[in-house]
Amino acid sequence: MADQANPFESLQAQIDVAAEHVDVRPDILQRLKHPERVLETTLSVELDDGSIELFQAFRSQFNGDRGPYKGGIRYHPGVTRDEVKALSGWMAYKCAIVDIPYGGGKGGIVVDPKQYSESELERLTRSFAAELRPLIGEDRDIPAPDVNTGQREMNWIKDTYETLEGTTAPGVITGKALDSGGSEGRVEATGRSTMLTAREAFEWLGRDIADATVAVQGYGNAGSIAARLIDELGADIVAVSDSSGGIYDPEGLDAAAVAETKQETGSVVEHSAAERLSNDELLTLDVDLLIPAALENAIDKSLAEDVRADVIAEAANGPLTPGADRVLAETDTYVIPDILANAGGVTVSYFEWVQNRQRFSWTETRVNEELERVIVEAFDGLVEAYEQNDLQTLRTAAYVVAIERVVDAYMQGGNWP
Ligand code: GLU
Repeated sequence: MADQANPFESLQAQIDVAAEHVDVRPDILQRLKHPERVLETTLSVELDDGSIELFQAFRSQFNGDRGPYKGGIRYHPGVTRDEVKALSGWMAYKCAIVDIPYGGGKGGIVVDPKQYSESELERLTRSFAAELRPLIGEDRDIPAPDVNTGQREMNWIKDTYETLEGTTAPGVITGKALDSGGSEGRVEATGRSTMLTAREAFEWLGRDIADATVAVQGYGNAGSIAARLIDELGADIVAVSDSSGGIYDPEGLDAAAVAETKQETGSVVEHSAAERLSNDELLTLDVDLLIPAALENAIDKSLAEDVRADVIAEAANGPLTPGADRVLAETDTYVIPDILANAGGVTVSYFEWVQNRQRFSWTETRVNEELERVIVEAFDGLVEAYEQNDLQTLRTAAYVVAIERVVDAYMQGGNWP
């Protein structure tokens, strides 16, 4: 089992490592390591039996130097204030590396949504939206889906906000259903950027991803779609897992069929496959490409000693602890950092917001082409920073590029007391 590194400390450690390669004043550096503000609120929600239950919820606005705060809202029993702060920081650097005009934010509610009915979840979501209302807005802070939230929750938040404000403002939130102002391609976007960055990394390493064997930890939205798109490139998805365990087939699994099984039964382990395996066994398989697509801290220092993948594409946010990074930096394993590998989600959120502001919809082809351009350009920029500065990891290169962009925006704006 991986250690429970504090994600906020992990974020700060990642910034410190990169800062050694950036010309940034120490006082400005401190600014880059702390959120601007964090809302902590206790929501009182009526359950179906008429009783009231309290839920703790957070929204962290990390940095707004490059534009409105941007980032998802997760529903998970493990949500903490520090986790949300870390996730909001990762969003700020993610938006900077793909060069979209946003800062970083993140929210979360401490809840296991599986334990509640749809109407309870609706009341919970609307209650949080009402608390968020003074903080969010199309030009202020724009939430989106994250772990255990999706179109349904985004539609409720949009409706609550618009009703309370007495206006229409579809760009106040992204990841909505198409009929509520969502974008084509948004659901697939996180998995798509994971596929694109993995494809680019293999090409950069002089290898063809079509010949790769792949293991995917976590089979939610990001993991299952990354697996399907990489399967479509001709690679063999040999192992996948979720919180109930994993399945392994050296001949390759049909990624789309496994997603159907999970949809129908709730877990990938119900899919018929050659062998069962644990999450830790999956993470240490001898594969060409490993995709951690679940939560933070999936691979810690001690598990990293056993990792045998050549390339890791982080579809999840924060799946490697700084200790794991240090171990892997000494090996031949390349890690495509989360702030690029999963940046497709927020990039297509940006496209959704642009469409909302213009009251004009793009085709799916246009969304996917623009996304590919953004991700490939960002990957090339990262590799250039890695090679030119002779950096130890791709993560450090990503932070070097991102920190420079955030600092430039801050310095150009100047400080105001
Ligand atoms: N929750 C996603 C992320 O971690 C998407 C955020 C967004 O679209 O704003 O990147």
